[in-house]
Amino acid sequence: MKQTDVLVVGGGICGYTAALAARRYYGGKKITLVRKEVRALIPWCLAFNCAKGTLYNNVLRDDRLYDERIELVIDEVTAIDRQGKCVTTAFAEDIIYDKLILATGSLPATPFFKGADLQGVFALKKEFPYLENIRASLASARSLVIVGAGPAGIEFAEACTTNRQLNVTMVELLPHCLAWAFDDEFCTLVEENLRQRGINIITATGAEELQGHKRVEQVKLTNGRVLPADTVFLATGIVPNIELAREAGLATHDHAGIVVDEYMRTSDVDIFAVGDCAAKGNLSGSVGAIARRAIEGGREARVAAANLFALKRTRETVLDKFAVAIGDHAFGAIGLFQNMNLEADRKMLTVDITPGVIAGNVTVKVAYARETGATIGAQVHGKPFGLVREIMDRLADAIQQQARFDELALA
Ligand SMILES: Cc1cc2nc3c(=O)[nH]c(=O)nc-3n(C[C@H](O)[C@H](O)[C@H](O)COP(=O)(O)OP(=O)(O)OC[C@H]3O[C@@H](n4cnc5c(N)ncnc54)[C@H](O)[C@@H]3O)c2cc1C
Repeated sequence: MKQTDVLVVGGGICGYTAALAARRYYGGKKITLVRKEVRALIPWCLAFNCAKGTLYNNVLRDDRLYDERIELVIDEVTAIDRQGKCVTTAFAEDIIYDKLILATGSLPATPFFKGADLQGVFALKKEFPYLENIRASLASARSLVIVGAGPAGIEFAEACTTNRQLNVTMVELLPHCLAWAFDDEFCTLVEENLRQRGINIITATGAEELQGHKRVEQVKLTNGRVLPADTVFLATGIVPNIELAREAGLATHDHAGIVVDEYMRTSDVDIFAVGDCAAKGNLSGSVGAIARRAIEGGREARVAAANLFALKRTRETVLDKFAVAIGDHAFGAIGLFQNMNLEADRKMLTVDITPGVIAGNVTVKVAYARETGATIGAQVHGKPFGLVREIMDRLADAIQQQARFDELALA
């Protein structure tokens, strides 16, 4: 039986960050990281690189772990015995831990579709061989249907526009693409930009069935329409991977993830959870509404690592933040927005920032609380991308500091 001071389960970007941060805080401790994959992937531009670039740029560097004396075990943790402070693995010996960090991430949420097991149907699993398979399939594809027009679907569609032989259609159940992030007028602009890039968009319609003989040939929609498809990409969101935690009796929330406190401790004080598997809290106070991002997960990983043997840091209130580029146009959203059905004491204001005020061409819509005037959300679109990002950063600071909307200084 193996023994370690700190055991990290899951070697995606958040487990990796947690292990490295634990080393910085606790130089003398024995740290072990268990992950399933031989090659772990960093998520930046994952859909894009899968469709167009090279996935080798996404591989996390194991040499950094070795340099920091972190033992890497390629295996799967199958159970946690909290009483004995020991985990069971699928292939190797059990591991006794003093402190445990769960970074088991998320899995594609693939609602049941008849035909989802046909060849040519993919979801975005963050697994190197699987993603290489998608790349190979796309090389000969002629008609691609993307089910779900969220960030992954849009990133994937955008990357596929350079393949002139490929007909790309996105199917979205909600009335608009990215309707969970933007108000209607911003969503309409997103759709206009996508259409200009040659992408077909069908909204307010679901995919009902994937049809074909061995390989997918067509997608039947809820309105009865049938789309030809030799490749289908299911981009219907993600779910936190919480089975291991739930089986161990830790407090979990189905959609939000493993329940954690401000120190990233779970309901067992010797077990922490970080990244996509951990529940989030956002400015609207709704647990689980936030998009799961590696940036936030990395922050959580550093907080958990600091607190392993003594409580040192708390996590900040997480601010929903999202940006996507379509061609040379960028769209960003932070915090709350009108389509969220805000309570009666909140209302919206639109502020247009003209090119005369700042360089570039950027429009900002700000949400503020009626009672206090405090800025609570913003949506931004325009170009160039760098300017949109910079304005988003300033707006994020303003929201964190509860700045009044009429005192915002964006220029
Ligand atoms: C297409 C796409 C693009 C994205 N782009 C961005 C972006 O640009 N910026 C950004 O901030 N975020 C982005 N994200 C979000 C980002 O991918 C996630 O927030 C991030 O990967 C979460 O990291 P994680 O380590 O928590 O989980 P994961 O990356 O899911 O890693 C979890 C790991 O744990 C392993 N594991 C699970 N259970 C066990 C077990 N029992 N035993 C051993 N190992 C186990 C898994 O195999 C996996 O390797 C993107 C996501 C997608 C899908």
